[in-house]
Amino acid sequence: MANIKVSVNLNKCVGSQLCMMFSPSVFDKDENRQARVYNPEGADLTELLGTAEQCPQCAIKVENTDTGEVLFPPPELAF
Ligand code: SF4
Repeated sequence: MANIKVSVNLNKCVGSQLCMMFSPSVFDKDENRQARVYNPEGADLTELLGTAEQCPQCAIKVENTDTGEVLFPPPELAF
């Protein structure tokens, strides 16, 4: 399986907590109530991509670190 990196753009995250609902094993909130990736291996790629798509701010980035490919967001929504 590919090595996957998940990150949150804190300049975009508004703390809606949707990612924490959809992938509670990956995300929780930091002291500012924004999303924090505490366990990047807490979900499979399908779940991660589905959760990233639900973020209203498009603040979640999913990358394949083996190839450098950005799996989400698509280029037109990239941060
Ligand atoms: S769903 Fe998006 S905006 Fe909401 S807390 Fe998660 S990263 Fe932030």
